[in-house]
Amino acid sequence: MATLSPILKQATPVVVDHALGSWIHATDGKKYLDFTTGIGVTSTGHCHPDVVAAAREQVGKIVHAQYTTVLHRPLLELTGLLGEVLPEGLDSVFYATSGSEAVEASIRLARMATGRPNIISFQGGFHGRTVAAASLTTAGTRFRSGFSPLMSGVHVAPFPHWYRYGWDEATAVEFALKELDHLLLTVSTPDDTAGFIIEPVLGDGGYIPTPAAFLQGLRERADRHGIVLIIDEVQAGVGRTGKFWGHDWAGVRPDVVITAKGLASGFPISAIAAPADLMGKAWPGSQGGTYGGNAVAAAAAVATLGVIERENLVENALLRGAELRAGLDALQAEFTDIGNVRGRGLMQGVEFSAADKTPDPETALAVQQAAIKEELLLLTCGPHGNVIRLIPALNVSSDEIQAGLSKFTQAL
Ligand code: PLP
Repeated sequence: MATLSPILKQATPVVVDHALGSWIHATDGKKYLDFTTGIGVTSTGHCHPDVVAAAREQVGKIVHAQYTTVLHRPLLELTGLLGEVLPEGLDSVFYATSGSEAVEASIRLARMATGRPNIISFQGGFHGRTVAAASLTTAGTRFRSGFSPLMSGVHVAPFPHWYRYGWDEATAVEFALKELDHLLLTVSTPDDTAGFIIEPVLGDGGYIPTPAAFLQGLRERADRHGIVLIIDEVQAGVGRTGKFWGHDWAGVRPDVVITAKGLASGFPISAIAAPADLMGKAWPGSQGGTYGGNAVAAAAAVATLGVIERENLVENALLRGAELRAGLDALQAEFTDIGNVRGRGLMQGVEFSAADKTPDPETALAVQQAAIKEELLLLTCGPHGNVIRLIPALNVSSDEIQAGLSKFTQAL
């Protein structure tokens, strides 16, 4: 008899029977409000009828056709739709299956395009669990210890962690950019540095928005030194922050954008976008994988982008995000266990820490567990596990936000 591996540490005891919109119906008969969305994946809610219909229809046409042999209509349609939302100039798109694979593809691209070995990532960043992606990840030791050696050629620069330092944002940005310049002068010189990789909002690292001035500083250094600026939009992209891309908040131009999670409402597909001349520096066969750009996942992504546009879900993320944030800010004023509330749009984090900023993962875990009793599903994140993240579906309603806040208050 087989059992599930003990490394599967389930955050809740819930076993799903079926789910619709923001609600998960469990086998125990309970109905949970889902503010986890499978870690920011089910962007249009669970089982949106348009996504379900598109996937069903596609299953009857063709499920899988490897893109190095034949193409299929959903992939071409998806590329056309992404062309409408991608930053100007990022006109060449390639597909993989997961966020980590897209991260790997972007690293290969930066190395192939520049002929340089090193990649600089930022403290607290999360880029995935494959060995290369884990090498760039510093959102917690659990993602990297025990299986060294990791990929060589990675340097981790400071992130402007204003809250942790107890500084204002401008001071933290100035510090982090100075440290980056020092790294570029002493350890990973521009001649050796292929790319910077950064999230617009640190995800697993604690839901910390990357200050606009920091992203702008990276853009300026990337231009000066011919370094490829890779923006990892796997968690923050596709409307999650109340703008289509998380980096839109900073008004910077990326060289490479990678996206996954919310792109297909739960079907596994990821995309890497870059200017055609940069993308052309890789060669056929150097990127992708057997399941990359799967037909059913691509059809679900086409449907997802359609729903996001028709139902104004980017705007909904902004408006519902503001309601959620207002409620969380009010709770911070009431509960001293909450040290900080931050985020953008429907990507909000509540950090539990003492007055001296000592992280308090026990309280975060206790609140998460208490929320299950209130039939509200929440996740934790951050290197210490002391941040509760709230990631509702992009089509969450005002009533559902208020219901979530009231359950969260009960849990607190
Ligand atoms: N990049 C970011 C910002 C992520 O949040 C994640 C996953 O959480 C990944 C990359 C890795 O994606 P995946 O788990 O699909 O490999």
